[in-house]
Amino acid sequence: MIEQKNLTIEKAGMKLESGEISALQLTQYYLKNIKEKNTKLNAYLEVFQDAEEQAKKIDEGIKSGKDMGPLAGIPFAIKDNILINGKSASASSKILENYKATYDATVIEKLREAGAVFLGRVNMDEFAMGGSTENSAFGPTKNPYDERRVPGGSSGGSATALAADMALAALGSDTGGSIRQPASFCGEVGLKPTYGRVSRNGLIAMASSLDQIGPIARTVSDAEIIFNTIKGKDPLDLTTIEPKEIKIKIDKLKIGILNYNKNGVDKDVNKMMDNALETFHRVGHEIKEIELPYLKYSLPCYYIIMPAEVSSNLARFDGVKYGALKEGENLLGDYLKTRGYGFGKETKRRAMIGTYVLSSGYYDAYYTKAQEVRALIKKDFENAFNESNERVDAIILPTAPEAAFKLGEKTDNPLKMYLEDIFTVSANLTGVPAISLPAGFKELDGVKLPLGLQIIAPHFREDILFQLGKEFENANLITKY
Ligand code: GLN
Repeated sequence: MIEQKNLTIEKAGMKLESGEISALQLTQYYLKNIKEKNTKLNAYLEVFQDAEEQAKKIDEGIKSGKDMGPLAGIPFAIKDNILINGKSASASSKILENYKATYDATVIEKLREAGAVFLGRVNMDEFAMGGSTENSAFGPTKNPYDERRVPGGSSGGSATALAADMALAALGSDTGGSIRQPASFCGEVGLKPTYGRVSRNGLIAMASSLDQIGPIARTVSDAEIIFNTIKGKDPLDLTTIEPKEIKIKIDKLKIGILNYNKNGVDKDVNKMMDNALETFHRVGHEIKEIELPYLKYSLPCYYIIMPAEVSSNLARFDGVKYGALKEGENLLGDYLKTRGYGFGKETKRRAMIGTYVLSSGYYDAYYTKAQEVRALIKKDFENAFNESNERVDAIILPTAPEAAFKLGEKTDNPLKMYLEDIFTVSANLTGVPAISLPAGFKELDGVKLPLGLQIIAPHFREDILFQLGKEFENANLITKY
């Protein structure tokens, strides 16, 4: 019997090892929850028929005394833009509704080797573009804390699956905040690793200079276990590198805080930040005010570079190579009909903006300019993290300017939706790792909604995020449920 709601990977691993529960029982527990809750919450687009079969194989392995890996029997929800051999992968787009993956993404291969069980694929904003999961072609996902609200996005299915106890862990992807913001809205831990730390082979690309795959999990330790499993150099993604192992445990860290514009940020989020500062101070770290003068240009910069890359990445979906072909009068007609039918409104908007900023007349004014600004933002972070005395070891910011908003609240105003990303996009533009931690609640309409704290560290210093994250968890003893 699995009595304990909201198990962690660590706890479940011990129970599996001691034989207290079997992988099959664990999988069945989540399948039952999915059956009960998914119709309402719409996190899963598909539950895999072979989930129990996968679990049975793990049990057989364990019984025969084999080492089945660090994630043996742990049931995962997988974002619908990560390929699993033989399964559909639609990126929540109509254009890919009939597409079946012909190979495993590298992260899936690694999870498989580590013994993970794949429960199913979960909902997202179409091609990962959005901050609420309302851009899915298959209906929005709801926030389990309050079903009138969004779970965040684009990895909203992953966050809801976890928060509603329909999985023990999940994978998401983060191009501008899509792991961290839904984790923040659903009271989970979400990690965007350093650019180049986790292979994107088998990830349906959104914006290739920004995309990273990462875990959404219940605790920092769980996120760390998953990260350690999926990271690493991969010849199939040439942006990946294996950094030198840096394992210096530093007791007293310097944490940078920014004087960000508090207007437009929910007052409870500002309060949450004050509490976080107080907590880090209490556990013995030094707090230091820093300035990143170009940070304020992150959002406009992101909303030029990202659509530029989106427009070229999505060019392959023409109904010939991929996608449900809708036939027109001639080849051009095929393209127009297929893409007209297959892409949703937001996807079309971004493909158009991207094509515009890359067009010969405007390329320098927009795209080149944005890349120059990106370099300046990078320099800001380099200066803050440099080796001199003035350096800091980490920077803290809110994950999002507010708690989960209502379904439909921002769908008519794309700019309002884009403002959700104000605190998250800089980590993608600069490539540094960032984590979102459950950091408190805001009470709204009689419901307690989770808030997220974001910690940003220098390139390849996920270890700092894990150290600070664990300290924060312990010091706060936040009861999430
Ligand atoms: N919300 C952001 C956007 O709409 C981030 C998306 C993402 O990280 N995939 O672009």
